[in-house]
Amino acid sequence: MNESLDQCCIRCRYFGAVDALGGLCHRYPPVFAGDASPRESHHWRHPSVGPHGWCGEYSAGDQMSSSGVTI
Ligand code: SF4
Repeated sequence: MNESLDQCCIRCRYFGAVDALGGLCHRYPPVFAGDASPRESHHWRHPSVGPHGWCGEYSAGDQMSSSGVTI
């Protein structure tokens, strides 16, 4: 079994899809993303991840919708 394909972001409970090409990781609170934008809401972001990425925090289970609601 190939763990990196089975335990990838798109199958992780912390993945929130944005579009067909990727989504956001909601494992932890947003991180500082820079202050180049004048809008405060752009300064803190959840990390962008690809559907086939993965990390050691992977967790199987319910996934979130694009609005962050568990589905
Ligand atoms: S980066 Fe890790 S915790 Fe976040 S969605 Fe991907 S596998 Fe899950």
